[in-house]
Amino acid sequence: RFSTAAAVEELITPPVQVNITKLLINGQFVDSASGKTFPTLDPRTGEVIANVAEGDAEDINRAVAAARKAFDEGPWPKMSAYERSRIMLKFADLVEKHNDEIAALETWDNGKPYLQAAEAEVPSFVRLFRYYAGWADKIHGLTVPADGPHHVQILHEPIGVAGQIIPWNFPLLMFAWKVGPALACGNTIVLKTAEQTPLTALYVAKLFHEAGLPPGVLNIVSGFGPTAGAALASHMDVDKLAFTGSTETGQTVLQLAAKSNLKSVTLELGGKSPFIICEDADIDHAVELAHFALFFNQGQCCCAGSRTYVHERVYDEFVEKAKARAMRRVVGDPFKKGVEQGPQIDSEQFQKVLRYIREGRDSSATLECGGDRIGSKGYFIQPTVFSNVKEDMSIAQDEIFGPVQCVFKFKDIGEVIKRANNTRYGLAAGVFTKNIDTANTLTRGLRAGTVWINCYDVFDAGIPFGGYKMSGMGREKGIHSLNNYLQVKAVVTPLKNPAW
Ligand code: NAD
Repeated sequence: RFSTAAAVEELITPPVQVNITKLLINGQFVDSASGKTFPTLDPRTGEVIANVAEGDAEDINRAVAAARKAFDEGPWPKMSAYERSRIMLKFADLVEKHNDEIAALETWDNGKPYLQAAEAEVPSFVRLFRYYAGWADKIHGLTVPADGPHHVQILHEPIGVAGQIIPWNFPLLMFAWKVGPALACGNTIVLKTAEQTPLTALYVAKLFHEAGLPPGVLNIVSGFGPTAGAALASHMDVDKLAFTGSTETGQTVLQLAAKSNLKSVTLELGGKSPFIICEDADIDHAVELAHFALFFNQGQCCCAGSRTYVHERVYDEFVEKAKARAMRRVVGDPFKKGVEQGPQIDSEQFQKVLRYIREGRDSSATLECGGDRIGSKGYFIQPTVFSNVKEDMSIAQDEIFGPVQCVFKFKDIGEVIKRANNTRYGLAAGVFTKNIDTANTLTRGLRAGTVWINCYDVFDAGIPFGGYKMSGMGREKGIHSLNNYLQVKAVVTPLKNPAW
């Protein structure tokens, strides 16, 4: 779907303009309390797209107060689950109707290929809301046959006000993964978007209100991490915090949550996921999927297959073909058809990726291709492949979050399991083999929240996603995400006539 099928030169005119740049508090788009704004930039050029209201602690206070009122007084948590579901379904229909506009705004603010946003990400967003709308009226408790003359009910109730902090790499999908389950369970929300990508959340939030979402149920504060984000994580009236971003910031928000009111926390953090290619693998297919696993979304995926382990018998052939594939990758304006890779998100990430490439060059790894920026404007980087990578190098250890593939050689399965697990992360892994015994040994041995066999980056609303070790706490999507947004209440009543 993302291959260079169409003419590269054809420019898709973005059918979009920026209409909403304010904070969403209590159903109204409002200026920040300080009146401050910040620019959101087009990563193709570094030019300003729009100036957006910059929320900080005072705006978080206002947003939390609105969410608290909407939770305590209703109607959202008190509404029938069927009604909540209907509003979510109506919202999904409206997003579907505006698919191309929303995708264009996402590409403009983030730099990802337009067709990726239009054909995959907005449709996944819609599916996710339909999936969780389906859950709304199917969340129910239990009765327990407890010892003694008692009637015991276990109720599942919404937690209350959910604080949600999301990153810039998939602004819409991260919105859906967090907002969908929280609303299905009857919670209210204060969402802080990433400072690099504030636009699409505001756009879809307007549609949500058109679909009938009551004021105060979903509040959105655009702004920066240390100000707005930290105020949300440490707020005394927020009952639950869900965060996606770097492991370091995850540690910070967990501390803030603990030191304030011990709000419950789920974290989706970084990764350095192994992609293991065994000697019996179909090499051409493995090359294509390993390429996709790393380079998809400009390499800016928490679950990127960023350590490519290749069996020594097929290593030379793999490296040669992986290099050829990377050199064929089409980098350019993400609004052009056939472009597979747009710019990195911003100057900071661009400089960080180039620094890792320099460190790779200074090590004993072999630079097979790439290694430089493209052009002099915007944040475009050549698809880069290093071979002969060793575990002690920084490019092998750290999350680069860019288009840099690192290829390692291995001899046997036991050895590669140990090496693949020798990282602080445990988000995902890929296994490439035709041998079912090898696949089973690897899947049981790898310490990762997702293992893809002969495929990669296959997502569905029903498949849980999350990390082992320092890649996170808890799971999102699927049935697993509901528990993040529910309290469990045991209700015990004496039975007057136990014989009945
Ligand atoms: P980050 O973790 O700093 O930002 C993620 C979100 O957290 C943003 O909304 C940000 O404003 C907020 N934030 C930052 N500091 C905060 C604080 N003190 N309190 C509360 N919220 C705070 O990530 P980044 O700086 O945008 O990117 C840095 C690195 O993080 C990347 O290079 C990449 O390795 C990693 N990253 C991972 C993911 C992921 O999906 N796992 C996503 C984005 C970035």
